[in-house]
Amino acid sequence: MSASSPATTVAHDEHHFANAVVPPIFQNSLFTFNSFADMEETYSGKKVRPVYSRGLNPTVRAFEEKIAKLEKTEDALGFASGMAAISSSVLSVVKPGDRIVSVEHVYPDAYRFFEMMLKDLNVSVEYVDGRDSDAVAKAMPGAKLLYLESPTSWTFHVHDIAKLCAIAREHGAVSMIDNSWASPVFQQPATLGCDVVIHSASKYLGGHSDVVAGVVAGSRDFIGRLRGQILPYLGGKLSAFDAWLLLRGLRTLPARMREHQRSGLAIAQKLAAHPEVTAVHHPTLGRNMPDGLTGASGLFSFEFSPRVNIPLFCDALGLFKIGVSWGGHESLMVPALITRAQIGGPNSALRFNVPENLVRLHVGLEDADDLWSDLSAAIDAAL
Ligand SMILES: *Cc1c(COP(=O)(O)O)cnc(C)c1O
Repeated sequence: MSASSPATTVAHDEHHFANAVVPPIFQNSLFTFNSFADMEETYSGKKVRPVYSRGLNPTVRAFEEKIAKLEKTEDALGFASGMAAISSSVLSVVKPGDRIVSVEHVYPDAYRFFEMMLKDLNVSVEYVDGRDSDAVAKAMPGAKLLYLESPTSWTFHVHDIAKLCAIAREHGAVSMIDNSWASPVFQQPATLGCDVVIHSASKYLGGHSDVVAGVVAGSRDFIGRLRGQILPYLGGKLSAFDAWLLLRGLRTLPARMREHQRSGLAIAQKLAAHPEVTAVHHPTLGRNMPDGLTGASGLFSFEFSPRVNIPLFCDALGLFKIGVSWGGHESLMVPALITRAQIGGPNSALRFNVPENLVRLHVGLEDADDLWSDLSAAIDAAL
């Protein structure tokens, strides 16, 4: 079977365990050997087969193969969370004394991992505005890694991924991108020259707010090293049941993304026209589709005029729930006020350069007119 479109890829499986249309959950820790020779061939590397589910599990493998196909990479590796995927990938390329370059406004826990763990390991991190490719080029000499996220968290800045990855390559650095926002349906960074593509699978890939997981897609070499030299020791493996939930979620990923895009744009347009809204940060609203991005998901942010009382707005919402995370069926709202206090409080050396009047929305799969009624009534109640 050969399929290049995401909609066809997610509907069919490579493996047919007993002709089941849905792969079974291999809920076992170990796989025994038939003989001494079987064991010897496996341990000497002549044969690849599951031995222990920390390393290889058939349900997890089915998920990994599907992600590699969607991201158009040679291979992929599942993780227990998006952060396990990020930290394992970064730690696989840096050693003490190294320097990495990261774009600003990456996912806040990735930023904290850089600031609170990498720095202790004597790895320095320089942050640059990813919209400014000259600034990126200036920061790159000597760096081991260029870490990207596009669009960025909270601010939704869009970067020229092909250009930035070409700069990284010129400097002999690995390029990595967090592609959770767009999903492989709307952006396939490997086709733009990015070496390593990372997802929090807890968001759109799973899509139902019932699993925390991550995945890394890349070359056979990179994923082989991650699987052989990092995953066994850091141990952040994906569970078979979570992989099964992800395979189930992936079946509807292209259909869900179309709906998130449609409703998200409809709400963003209405907000942009609202007198109490001073800015809307949506990567594709009112502008040409940036290179490499073929659609928009349902996550964006906007800024309120000073007349709107944000705590009152939060409490007046009904359909939009107050909550972090995103990518599921349900609509969510989180005010930057809370995250600013959490990350960049007065005694913190960490920075969270996001305006106080900013609110992030995840537009879920509810009816867009119902969602707009909820939002506009909550704005009226907060004036
Ligand atoms: C949630 C998130 C992560 C972290 O993923 P977890 O699965 O929660 O560990 C990483 N990147 C982005 C952009 C996210 O939104």
